[in-house]
Amino acid sequence: MASAEERLLEWLRDAHAMEEQAETMLSGMASRIENYPELKTKLERHLDVTRRQAKRVRECIERRNGSTSTIKDATGKMVAMGQAMSGMFVGDEIVKGSMASYTFEHMEIAAYRILIGAARVVGDAQTQRVCEEILAEEEEMAGWLEDNLPAVTQKYLRLEETPGATAKH
Ligand code: MG
Ligand code: FE
Repeated sequence: MASAEERLLEWLRDAHAMEEQAETMLSGMASRIENYPELKTKLERHLDVTRRQAKRVRECIERRNGSTSTIKDATGKMVAMGQAMSGMFVGDEIVKGSMASYTFEHMEIAAYRILIGAARVVGDAQTQRVCEEILAEEEEMAGWLEDNLPAVTQKYLRLEETPGATAKH
């Protein structure tokens, strides 16, 4: 049996590992993009946002006298590296990468909604506020992807039919 305080700390550690994973995924994908400059810029901006989020979550953990999970952080990074590298072998890398990003943002949205609920139960107003602010950032990114996935898809299909053009990234 775990206390709500223990669960909150555990979920904050999970969120930190998730942000570390996001960092690896975003930097891997952004660095490979050549023909989708708007997507590349947005991913780079969200990479900066993500680094700040990881730091803020870490501060919540430390304020609750916990430490981050090195094992979970490393595992997340390895998974993300594998995802980024697997993109190299599929012809529709940019489409699959966009799909993965959209999915990932929604996983983050769910995680922070849960953390907000848990922080409220425990009465940790500071953690609740941090998670609410991060939630808004994830929703903004998810919304941007939602608005831009059709254009990326159109451009991908057009480039794929253009002789000599690189469509995949
Ligand atoms: Mg994030
Ligand atoms: Fe995010």
